[in-house]
Amino acid sequence: MLSITNLHVTVDGKPILKGLDLTVDAGEVHAIMGPNGSGKSTLAHVLAGREGYAVTDGTVTYDGRDLLALEPEERAREGVFLAFQYPVEIPGVANVNLLKAALNAQRRHRGEEELDAMDFLELVKDRLALMQMDEAMLYRAVNEGFSGGEKKRNEILQMAVLEPRLAILDETDSGLDIDALKVVAGGVNALRAPERAMLLVTHYQRLLDHIAPDRVHVLAGGRIVRSGGPELARELEARGYGWLDDTAAGAD
Ligand code: ADP
Ligand code: MG
Ligand code: MG
Repeated sequence: MLSITNLHVTVDGKPILKGLDLTVDAGEVHAIMGPNGSGKSTLAHVLAGREGYAVTDGTVTYDGRDLLALEPEERAREGVFLAFQYPVEIPGVANVNLLKAALNAQRRHRGEEELDAMDFLELVKDRLALMQMDEAMLYRAVNEGFSGGEKKRNEILQMAVLEPRLAILDETDSGLDIDALKVVAGGVNALRAPERAMLLVTHYQRLLDHIAPDRVHVLAGGRIVRSGGPELARELEARGYGWLDDTAAGAD
């Protein structure tokens, strides 16, 4: 579903990603781990089409199409979803209205009928229950005054409503207490599906205790320097990233 080859990205002229290769098949959950500043968020933002990132080399194909040629809105309508590391507040816009507008834009794009208020509310209440969120959260301005944990849950709520084909979660676990972490993990697990792929960007093993990834990759120095199964995440937890330094140069 997603195939990244030799991706080079600069931010303000500074090279961040330096030849990143990654392939993710439908139905799979991949974890991207790596030290701070290694380019994990950069990768997430480039895939979502955020401004300020210059792709200087390489290709990204999504369902056989050139993802990089699509505008950010188009990527979203085509089923690419990014949960932000730092969710944005949107004062004056009720959460429920953002969710409904985003879902109906996607449905129009697919030639499906828009959901009316009743059907939409039924859907969103089901997803709220999944995320153990109070209905009152729907009527507050998007993320405004939300606690860190509420913002992260709200990101997964958006994902649960939009049902993306490719979901990218950027450190959705950071700052969560253990109960919130379990709720977020439960939401992610509920959305695992044969037609859906997920990229979990995470700094720590603990999220992966609750979401068993199919593959784990280490991003360091702008490239994937190691790939493996869930045992790789446990090894990183035990040994840190330092031991990879010696091997990174020789890694392919
Ligand atoms: P990670 O998510 O792995 O912690 P990031 O992708 O956020 O890493 O950052 C990778 C590198 O890019 C860091 O050195 C960071 O300082 C730099 N960087 C990210 N965003 C910007 C920006 N807007 N301007 C300048 N440098 C940036
Ligand atoms: Mg970081
Ligand atoms: Mg980051």
